[in-house]
Amino acid sequence: MIKKNDLILIGAVIILGLGIIFFINVTKTEGSKVLITIDGKEYDTFPLDEDTTFTVELDNGEYNTFVIKDGQVDMTEASCPDKVCVRHKEIHYNNETIVCLPNNVVLQIIGGEEDEIDAIAK
Ligand SMILES: [Zn+2]
Repeated sequence: MIKKNDLILIGAVIILGLGIIFFINVTKTEGSKVLITIDGKEYDTFPLDEDTTFTVELDNGEYNTFVIKDGQVDMTEASCPDKVCVRHKEIHYNNETIVCLPNNVVLQIIGGEEDEIDAIAK
């Protein structure tokens, strides 16, 4: 026999669960572009919906190669000694980054809805 208080509790749990799902969906927005930053300067952006392979070549001969495939960005090759960026999992959520500290190269996912709201506000 289910009591009235149990139903209220179940209802509260369901609402909380939906709230958490909603919150995750809002904070984990899919990005639409990847921004390449070198030495803190914006270098280029690429759309995530076009599969491509691109090598960032630095003036000092270092390089970072990344692949855009199925809307995900993955660093596949780099000249840096630690290869932290190569080992990083692929990214696609808004504001996710792959950072290559030795080469000072940053890949950042942008173009999610939050960014656009920001851009309008500025
Ligand atoms: Zn690296």
